[in-house]
Amino acid sequence: MGLYRTKLSETPVPPVRTVRLKDGRQIKKITDRSFMRKGGPDIRGYVQLFFLLITIWIGVDFYLFMNALVNGGPSTVTRPPGVEGFLPISALMSVRYFILTGIVNHIHPAGFFIFVAAILISVLMKKGFCSWICPVGLISESLYEFGAKLFGRNFAFPKWVDVPLRSLKYILLAFFFVSVSALSVEELGSFIHSDFNKAADIKMYMFFAQISTFSLVIIGLLIALSLFYKNFWCRYACPYGALLGIASLVSPLKIRRVKESCIDCGLCSQACPSGLPVDKLDSVSSAECNTCYSCVEACPVNNTLNMSARSGRKGLSQNKYALLLFGIYFGVVGVAVLAGLWQNSITFNEYLVLFRSLGSISHAF
Ligand code: SF4
Ligand code: SF4
Repeated sequence: MGLYRTKLSETPVPPVRTVRLKDGRQIKKITDRSFMRKGGPDIRGYVQLFFLLITIWIGVDFYLFMNALVNGGPSTVTRPPGVEGFLPISALMSVRYFILTGIVNHIHPAGFFIFVAAILISVLMKKGFCSWICPVGLISESLYEFGAKLFGRNFAFPKWVDVPLRSLKYILLAFFFVSVSALSVEELGSFIHSDFNKAADIKMYMFFAQISTFSLVIIGLLIALSLFYKNFWCRYACPYGALLGIASLVSPLKIRRVKESCIDCGLCSQACPSGLPVDKLDSVSSAECNTCYSCVEACPVNNTLNMSARSGRKGLSQNKYALLLFGIYFGVVGVAVLAGLWQNSITFNEYLVLFRSLGSISHAF
């Protein structure tokens, strides 16, 4: 693509002057406007909104489907397959089952394909799934932005708290990974085809429909912490994000800094919700980078900070990043739909039986 071909040779150095702020800090400002980066529309915000609307659509359809189950049927809507995107452990089992047998299971196939799309996006273009598609990512962002308005700023843990807390999501991931890896192909097959797994989405619905006081307190605590700390859930507790972060380490796309034109203003690091020292790095390889483009948007110098596959190349704009993201995500979903693998094979009557015996369905192991 053109964006990988354009060379930024002989990068000119922008003229700067040092300005002292009221709080005593000194910052550098560009004096020649031709070097200033021009802002653009918030493409990522529109993409996040698009996926939020899809999630709401899925939620409304699933609510209507569940209402039909509660009332004993019939249902005017089919169960939305996208709901399986919220069953990541089942998807992890499906992926391992597929690796061992070459079979895409017909219990939660959409969950399998959404999981594959998320991994593909991470491998090719870093953790874009987290900050462009995932509705939890959008909620986390909205909460800390609201918190900043409420309290005048966000807060950050000292490093000795932040680093061990960040490892929590990797510990959770390791637990799920080891547990799933320990299962034989027969055990995986028996879990995937168990009533427990078939009813996993119904159980998830009932969890929220009949939420316990304890769960409400935990969710309230997470919301409160998310107001103070940027992306609290994603940064410290989400094992799905941890997996996508590890997959993103091989991505050729990275945030890259052109040292020659950088004026060391530090605005990129201040803007980074993951607390990465962008202004000190040549390129951001960290698994914590979620390709939110906040640093790029904050950089005042034209073509100095960008998302690109190699240094010295022109960056990938948010528009092009969004197009690639849509291409991969809907490409994978399209393949699933065309292959007739998107919808599962459980009938409404089977769901009705599962729903009525929900209390007696126990874990497969
Ligand atoms: S601000 Fe830049 S470095 Fe930080 S997470 Fe977003 S894209 Fe990555
Ligand atoms: S890369 Fe960071 S430090 Fe350098 S000019 Fe841009 S915002 Fe400032």
